[in-house]
Amino acid sequence: MPHIDGGPVLMEVPAEHPRTCIGCQEGSAADGPFVQMRFHPGLNWRIYLCADCVKEVAVAAGFLAGKQQDVVLDQSKQVAQRDAEIARLQRRLTKSDKQAKDWETLAGERAAVLDSQRQRIEQLEGSITAISDEAQSKLLAASK
Ligand SMILES: [Zn+2]
Repeated sequence: MPHIDGGPVLMEVPAEHPRTCIGCQEGSAADGPFVQMRFHPGLNWRIYLCADCVKEVAVAAGFLAGKQQDVVLDQSKQVAQRDAEIARLQRRLTKSDKQAKDWETLAGERAAVLDSQRQRIEQLEGSITAISDEAQSKLLAASK
C-alpha cells in the first residue's frame, strides 16, 4: 500500500507535532535518528518511530532472526547500560557541583570571620599602643 503524504524518511529529530515516538512516547530524549512516517489524518499527527522502537518492531515482525537479532538486542542492551552509566555520572557530577558550591560558601563565611577578627586585632593593637604611649609620657612627666 502506498504511503499517503510521503513515505518513511530518516530524520535526526521529530520535526512535526507531536514530536514524539509513537512507540515509546519519547521525544528528542529518545535515541535518534527517527523514522518519520506518513501524516495520520485521524490523529492529526505525524507518526514517528525512534531508532530503538524501529529495532523492536523489526524483531517483532521477524525481519531480524538468529544471530542478527541477538546482535541488535545485545546492542540495545549495551546502549541502555551506557545510558544508565551516563545518568549515574551526571548525578555524581551534580552532587560534586553542589559540594563545591557548599565549600565555596563555607570558605566565604570563614574569610569574613577571619577579616573581622583581623580588624579586631588591629583595634586592640591600636589601643595597646595608645595606652603604652600614655604610660610613657606619664613616666616622663613624673621623672622631671
Ligand atoms: Zn520509541
